[in-house]
Amino acid sequence: MSIAPSWTELYEDLHKHPELSFEEQRTAGIVADSLRSAGFEVETEVGRTGVVGVIRNGDGPTVLLRADMDALPVTEATGLPYASTVDGVAHACGHDVHVTCLLAACAELSATRDTWAGTLLAVFQPAEELGDGARAMIQDGLYERHGTPVVVLGQHVAPMPAGTIGVHVGPAFAAADSLAVTIHGKGGHGSMPHTTVDPVVLAASTVLKLQTVVSRESAPAETAVVTIGRLEAGTKANIIPDTALLHVNVRSYKAEVRDRVLGSIRRIVEGEAATAGAPKPPEIDHYEQVDAVVNDADACVATKPALESAGALVLDPGPVSGSEDVGLFATEAGCPCVYWLLGGADPALFEGLTTIQEFVDRVATIPSNHSPEYAPVQEPTLEIGANALVAAARHWLPVGRG
Ligand code: ZN
Ligand code: ZN
Repeated sequence: MSIAPSWTELYEDLHKHPELSFEEQRTAGIVADSLRSAGFEVETEVGRTGVVGVIRNGDGPTVLLRADMDALPVTEATGLPYASTVDGVAHACGHDVHVTCLLAACAELSATRDTWAGTLLAVFQPAEELGDGARAMIQDGLYERHGTPVVVLGQHVAPMPAGTIGVHVGPAFAAADSLAVTIHGKGGHGSMPHTTVDPVVLAASTVLKLQTVVSRESAPAETAVVTIGRLEAGTKANIIPDTALLHVNVRSYKAEVRDRVLGSIRRIVEGEAATAGAPKPPEIDHYEQVDAVVNDADACVATKPALESAGALVLDPGPVSGSEDVGLFATEAGCPCVYWLLGGADPALFEGLTTIQEFVDRVATIPSNHSPEYAPVQEPTLEIGANALVAAARHWLPVGRG
């Protein structure tokens, strides 16, 4: 199907009115109205601001299609005529693309129910950017009330050329962990360091030692990232404070690598404190835990022809170092996940390129997701995104499977 002008209007409206994580009330209202007018049974306020649309269309499996709805605390600098009208908030990750495509796909699947059978579960989740929205919906009883899917399907718009879809089998998005580490020292006058245990020096040596988790403890073929993105201590040059705070962010693809890296961080943080004679061990608050998105090999192979039938060139973009909580819908259901990247960059930017390296270099020059300048082109992105969801859903909901 080609995308109707009303979907373009809806996209521009969502883009103009972005909402932060767990504050997606307006967006949820638009989603619920659109689903109702397409004939879906609708449940709102699932996991706070999430929306679920259901069509029970005879005997057959349940298939979950997922879009996320939240925007980012970013000031848009795209110069688009439909740029954000909300101060300091923008759809810089393209979740408005995901919502528009899934609503258009839902309308098409509802209008063509004679071409498929089973139960369609359209899930519009809040708070992907916090890594909390999928969990919130599942804990709110999503599967108890609507059944468990046989597959989870979804997409994320990315700075690849519009007209392409990227599918990577295996770990496709990294696991993300964030830890707040409070290091305890013993404060005092800056002129009398011998009477103190200086947490600033201890934090500094901990930061440096943590650099060895990847460089010295991880095998060269393994991928892991350890970043200390926040370091706070003290108030004044001549006061040695009592505590220092580190925020550590970890990315990894394999569970065993993740466990080892997190274990190494704990060992180093505790060991450095003990070496410095800290009065008590550090406190570690593991406040963010998002699992890797692992695409199922068989399910990806089975779905690929459907994605191609949507008019896209399907390629393998390799794993993404960003993180996503879509995988939780699949792991909680015990079913496979097929999560693809939807090209959203102007194809004209890629004209004349002949090698993979030229392609990769060009992608690096395009503002990426989360940039204030991130601006996917509407066409053919929306059309291919909607068609991909329709085709993938139909593949998993064949008539007569029973
Ligand atoms: Zn994002
Ligand atoms: Zn995103």
